[in-house]
Amino acid sequence: MQKIIWEVEYISQLPVIRYCKKCGKKTEYVCSGLFRVNAQHKYLDIWLIYKCSKCDTTWNSTIYSRINPKNLNPEILEQFHTNDENLVKQYAMNVELLHRNGAEAGIPKYKIVGQEININDLTQLRIVSKYPSQLKVSILLREKLGLSRKAFDEMLDFGAIKSISGVDLKKSKLNYEIVLEVGKEKQTSSN
Ligand SMILES: [Zn+2]
Repeated sequence: MQKIIWEVEYISQLPVIRYCKKCGKKTEYVCSGLFRVNAQHKYLDIWLIYKCSKCDTTWNSTIYSRINPKNLNPEILEQFHTNDENLVKQYAMNVELLHRNGAEAGIPKYKIVGQEININDLTQLRIVSKYPSQLKVSILLREKLGLSRKAFDEMLDFGAIKSISGVDLKKSKLNYEIVLEVGKEKQTSSN
């Protein structure tokens, strides 16, 4: 069986929506790419800073609250101090963190990178994302395979697309990864 990996690559930030007091309505907040680390006695508070796209009001998204720096890997702590780009991305793409901090997250712009699939062969397909993704697996599959909803549903019904772990492909979200079988097994002979 042929094995193919598709990776979801993000080409925009995660859109962050929250109520801006100054604007008096919900607006989009843009990640500044900067952390703020504040020492209080023996403890640290660490935030990722956002700005309202309309009025520049800042909002601090809490990452750690009163954490003992001894509990943090020194390398990571250094990355917070130097606003390491990859660390910023990890937090800026983290939907759960945003929800915990009372913000809503939209869907970032993305593209699906990977080899085309021939649905006349059986392929093991692994779809992966560097960040926990809220994208629906059905949408990713339909987009990349060029399937209408009807054609996709038919393939599901016939078992020509199935998830290895048996999750409901009409509903499930990608998160970090999913493994599927796509296509039909070759018929060796007929009758
Ligand atoms: Zn505002």
